[in-house]
Amino acid sequence: MEERRCLRVHGIVQGVGFRPFVYRLAVGVGLRGFIRNTASGVLIEVQGPPALLKEFSRRLLSERPPLAVIESIEESTIIPVAEEAFLIGDSVSGAGVETLIPPDIALCSDCRREMLDPANRRFRYPFINCTNCGPRYTIVGHLPYDRASTSMHTFTMCRECEQEYHDPLNRRFHAEPTACAVCGPSLALQDASGVSLSGDAVAAALALLEKGMIVALKGVGGFHLAVDGRNEPAVRRLRERKGREAKPFAVMMRDLELVRSCCEVSEGELAALSSAQAPIVLLKKRECDALAPSIAPGNDRLGVMLPYTPLHTLLFDGKLDILVMTSANFSEEPIASENEEALLRLKGIADAFLVHDRPIWLKCDDSVTIHLAGALRQIRRSRGYVPAPIYLREGGATLLGTGGELKNTITLLKGTHALVSQHIGEMKNFESYRHFEQVFAHLQHLFQASPELLVHDLHPGYMTTQWALKQGLPLLGVQHHHAHLAACLAENREEGPAIGLILDGTGYGTDGTIWGGELLIGDAAGVERFASLEPMPLPGGETAVTQPWRAALGYLHRSCPDLPDLPFMKERQIAPVLELLKKRVNVFETSSCGRLFDAVAALCNLRGEITFEGEAAIALMHAAGGRIGHKSFRYGLQYENVQDFALMPGGGEALGNNRSLYEQKGRWTLLLSPLIQDIAAALQQGMATSEISQRFHRTLLTSFHELIKKATEATGLKTVALSGGVFQNELLFETLVRELQADGYKVLTHALVPSGDGGISLGQAIIGREYLKGNYYGVQ
Ligand SMILES: [Zn+2]
Ligand SMILES: [Zn+2]
Repeated sequence: MEERRCLRVHGIVQGVGFRPFVYRLAVGVGLRGFIRNTASGVLIEVQGPPALLKEFSRRLLSERPPLAVIESIEESTIIPVAEEAFLIGDSVSGAGVETLIPPDIALCSDCRREMLDPANRRFRYPFINCTNCGPRYTIVGHLPYDRASTSMHTFTMCRECEQEYHDPLNRRFHAEPTACAVCGPSLALQDASGVSLSGDAVAAALALLEKGMIVALKGVGGFHLAVDGRNEPAVRRLRERKGREAKPFAVMMRDLELVRSCCEVSEGELAALSSAQAPIVLLKKRECDALAPSIAPGNDRLGVMLPYTPLHTLLFDGKLDILVMTSANFSEEPIASENEEALLRLKGIADAFLVHDRPIWLKCDDSVTIHLAGALRQIRRSRGYVPAPIYLREGGATLLGTGGELKNTITLLKGTHALVSQHIGEMKNFESYRHFEQVFAHLQHLFQASPELLVHDLHPGYMTTQWALKQGLPLLGVQHHHAHLAACLAENREEGPAIGLILDGTGYGTDGTIWGGELLIGDAAGVERFASLEPMPLPGGETAVTQPWRAALGYLHRSCPDLPDLPFMKERQIAPVLELLKKRVNVFETSSCGRLFDAVAALCNLRGEITFEGEAAIALMHAAGGRIGHKSFRYGLQYENVQDFALMPGGGEALGNNRSLYEQKGRWTLLLSPLIQDIAAALQQGMATSEISQRFHRTLLTSFHELIKKATEATGLKTVALSGGVFQNELLFETLVRELQADGYKVLTHALVPSGDGGISLGQAIIGREYLKGNYYGVQ
């Protein structure tokens, strides 16, 4: 007796070789029926003896293609029909699109082997791909995902490619971007003014790179500027032309062996480097003379990725084995994508352009990750990860989180999916603003989702807030650090409430001051501001962000009535800034933890001015030499012959008598003045910067731990969520996680979205759902 089953499969099942897999499985098991793509996934009907149907269902899950993600299967029994075979049907388009577009995937080993095989018809073809690899998100315009809806629609397949494409047993069956040298995209090398050069484009580009020239390479999600990573003058020229003084460059290395000789690589880092997402991984540098010194000056980590496109593989076929590969943009603008745009914007930077004619429909930078405290953490979540959803605890309204201002992303919520966009960049920039609008339009279109609410930051001046105000949709403004906490809960699929320690650069507070060192207790519906850092004056506001010496002067002025004379003040115009501070003109109060790190770094004369975000804080962390000091008694530290920092209880009498925690009506303040006084005194006594940094970190850790314990005493909560950009400080992050866990806390951290402002759009959107349910109460 035969039965017929209907299976509706939801998840990432298009563009990942799912239909050929099902075809082979059904035919292999001996079933008849069909499979086709639908707007909500795939529809399978199979018919045969019940035992075989059971085997089919089991193997559908256990043997699914590597890139497929099956979220759910609706299975029902239907009436058998007369049919001869198993077929692959046409795609059905329609309303209610719910299927998911896969991210762009690194070259697979099968395609790599074919490309390097002289007997293969795609030998050295730089656009080789299959159902297991190649571009996806950056070339898809709409759904359902098939050739006609990608930027490959203008390339007509040759007979051979077409045969493969239609052969269910072929690796390229319905590989939508499939192509070959006869029918597909091709490369061209252009000189600095855009004139195409004849000859083998790859060979000519390689020759230029070997000579130390800067070549702009069109890749999957945009252009890179590439230069030989062993050639110091060439790397320095790239820095000069790009106007990038000190921010580290990422490199691409030929193979893992080379990576291992230049960096320490753990198991987790190895897995990330060689994953299908192929992100940049920030690795600890080893002593090695292969790298040009100005790639990552003054940094003990190096951003490394492996070749992830066929073209990259070809570039490492010759003499070169390390290429600096940096997004082809001016600082904080989105990556350049189209050929003419690149020519225009990279004029004067690139010596040549290696371009191709497969359009990029959506820009997407390389993702940047770091492996800390046992997990891979996103610093910039983009290519390879986007648009795969973050899975939420529960479904709800469709709405949009517009993000913040720096390192922005947006998040569209639809059902149980949070669709967090790629890194968009700094919103003040016109190019980024345009990119923001493109990404929103694209996500909205791809996922057929119209938000019923826009959630934005409370900051009235943010471009994302301005944009939201213009859309004519219902709005909700949420506090920056509340959004951080909600994002951390959401990606951990936790409901809360939790104790949220949010350490950040800048976030608009509900009192109009700048917050950024906050202990919030609550959940997505609302939080209590249980504690914060003592507000400190920032003379000149935003200027103090790029000139930390101003912050240092502000903190010192507030903390030390008799202003000490410290080395960092020399050759700086401190008098006018002191005037501002005295008269309280153009002075902003902030509880920002990021500014505290900046101020202390500047006090120690490590960085008075910075050229990229976090530069001073990174320098301060490095000064500690990876050490927080030795524990003598619980969290306390004892230093021989040196006075303890203020927050430290003297003589090892740990906690309890911490003279820097101050309480008023149940609200705690972590006083910073005593800490600043002690640092100033230590500097005057000539204490080494390394020791000051160690003690500073140790002091903060102890104080935060202490505050968290106070929060537990008040609420009974033993769950702590850590969020905010300051947690990119690995010394602080890893130690705090370890110590809190040792103290019995459940510690929630970010791994799927950045702990910095790239994560707040997710939190905003989640808060928006509480608002629509009528639960929202904001910050108390
Ligand atoms: Zn492949
Ligand atoms: Zn072809």
